[in-house]
Amino acid sequence: MARLDGRVAVVTGATSGIGEATALALAAEEAHVTIAGRRGDRLDDLTDRMKGAGADGDGQVLAIECDVTDEQQAHDLIEKTREEFGKLDILVNNAGVMLLSKVEKGLSDQWRQMFDVNVMGLLYVTDAAVAVMKQQGSGHLINISSVAGRKTRPTVGVYSGTKFAVNAISEALRQELLQDGIRVTMVEPGAVATELTDHITDEEVRENLGSSQMEPLQSEDIANAIVYAASQPQRVSVNEILIRPTEQSN
Ligand code: NDP
Repeated sequence: MARLDGRVAVVTGATSGIGEATALALAAEEAHVTIAGRRGDRLDDLTDRMKGAGADGDGQVLAIECDVTDEQQAHDLIEKTREEFGKLDILVNNAGVMLLSKVEKGLSDQWRQMFDVNVMGLLYVTDAAVAVMKQQGSGHLINISSVAGRKTRPTVGVYSGTKFAVNAISEALRQELLQDGIRVTMVEPGAVATELTDHITDEEVRENLGSSQMEPLQSEDIANAIVYAASQPQRVSVNEILIRPTEQSN
């Protein structure tokens, strides 16, 4: 039997990278999955690929265009999922942006965007999901943090700040919600080959990233870890998963 047969999951940032791989991996385990992101064409394409992905082919897909920085859209995402599938078992808070630059460059629009998506967006969706999960007496929040949520370095300060916040919020949520049967997992990847770095505007940072010879992780490596955490029995709460490429030193 598939590991997530009949479970209902929401994945934010499902239009590329880790979110897309996670949606496919959850569907392969026969979960019903709501995929969310701002790019509708990507959602349509992913929906086609997910349909019939499980062994029995009965996992369902719901695609919702959603900007997580809009509190109403974030709440609608959860409400539409509950209306469609009748419950919510797993929320993968994955949507994120990483706009690296030294703090002294003063790119305040990019700082704001990172905090809006990585922190406020996560909080809005979580807030709506927790209300549903508390009513059910069960649920699982899986927050995609980063190695940068544990340590920082030059050019990574503000992004790191958002991921330190994700870790602090995740751990508080874990303690606040354990009596409600709600589990919380933070997943902390090192470098993964995705579109994440494409949006960096700082030329110096882009050049440094381009010169790295290290073999990065693939999105599927993170999706596997997410499925592992999600498929444990209720008594098991996988709190934290740190995954680096073998060649990544810190
Ligand atoms: P991608 O750029 O491939 O994916 C980012 C996703 O976030 C996209 O689907 C994008 O969808 C979505 N997103 C961005 N802004 C918004 C928004 N305002 N509202 C809704 N969705 C939004 O990067 P990754 O897959 O690498 O990133 C996924 C997560 O993994 C992020 O939280 C990132 O910080 C984290 N991470 C990534 C690492 C890496 O090396 N790649 C390492 C450690 C952590 P759309 O544009 O369609 O809205």
